[in-house]
Amino acid sequence: MAFSPFDWLLGYFSLDIGIDLGTANTLVHVKGKGIVIQEPSWVAIHKRTREPIAIGSAAKEMIGRTPADIITLRPLRDGVISEFEITQAMLEYFIAKAHQQSIVPVPRPRVVIGIPAGVTEVEKRAVYDASMAAGARSTYLIEEPVAAALGAGLPIDKVGGNMIVDIGGGTSEVAIMTMGGVVSSRSLRVAGDELDEDIIQYIRNKYNILIGQRLAEEAKITLGSAFPLSEEKTMTLRGRNLVTGLPDSIEISSIELRDAISNSVQTIIDTIRDALDETPPEILADLMDNGVCLAGGGSLLQGLDKRLTEELQINTWLAEDPISCVARGAGVALEEMDKWNGLFVGLERKSAPRE
Ligand code: ADP
Ligand code: MG
Repeated sequence: MAFSPFDWLLGYFSLDIGIDLGTANTLVHVKGKGIVIQEPSWVAIHKRTREPIAIGSAAKEMIGRTPADIITLRPLRDGVISEFEITQAMLEYFIAKAHQQSIVPVPRPRVVIGIPAGVTEVEKRAVYDASMAAGARSTYLIEEPVAAALGAGLPIDKVGGNMIVDIGGGTSEVAIMTMGGVVSSRSLRVAGDELDEDIIQYIRNKYNILIGQRLAEEAKITLGSAFPLSEEKTMTLRGRNLVTGLPDSIEISSIELRDAISNSVQTIIDTIRDALDETPPEILADLMDNGVCLAGGGSLLQGLDKRLTEELQINTWLAEDPISCVARGAGVALEEMDKWNGLFVGLERKSAPRE
């Protein structure tokens, strides 16, 4: 591409935005500023017109409190775009919000978006189109585990194996990388949300009490674990007694909660083990030195690092600020675009022959 003073000016003044379009949280990283937005990926819409009424934190506030004609939803629930127009509205809102924060009026931003590994062409195209429709000047897609590895500061461009596990709300993603490429990867639709569901089911089956989703998540965060705690704890949960139909409360222990989520936790561990199974021995040897890096909100589950270290026989550690890894990694990819060019996911053109 020919270089012109115009390009230089455009590059100098324009915004570079890295976005983690997560199933649970959307984070936006702006070059030179860091994380400027971190909001839940929730949208409140009119039931009939499907017109968005509130987006992000404002929409999450409304959960369970809306009148009959308004519904709240997460358009990306399982890591894919199930609600294209609503996702587009959400992206538009976040891009505009990041854009507004610059002091001088700037041209439309360049955007890098993290997408779950293993999404289909149609889903990739949907994210791309949503971003362009939301006002991006150019849009690049990067697989979430790759972005998470960059954000965690793993030296993935070097010769030598590195492994990242990103556990979000809807999906868990595993990738083993070397020399800027992926050796093996796994994507699983079992992550933080599933643990919340497990807790609801467990309390229902054992105590005949129905608790809400928010309370289940709170219980998971305060009491949930993947490894015995040095001091087991208890907490009170309130819900509806399904026999009497009246409000009721129970005292639940961290031991019970560990039991409640154990199947899903094991599923996540088995998936990581699968990815290791097909890793060549030299890279496996590197992993024994470098360890396994955990990212994503779900990786904050108490004792998960310990449990993995024990089960995989490889040292497992938490990235710094695991929740913002993908957004920061997307920011790194934008900042050093030439260096990380190979990591962007291309969109198949209609005329291109299939591999
Ligand atoms: P996504 O990338 O899908 O948007 P995030 O990386 O933001 O997801 O992680 C969201 C998930 O992390 C939710 O299921 C949430 O309950 C879970 N989570 C957040 N903090 C904790 C914690 N301290 N312990 C366990 N789970 C947590
Ligand atoms: Mg994520």
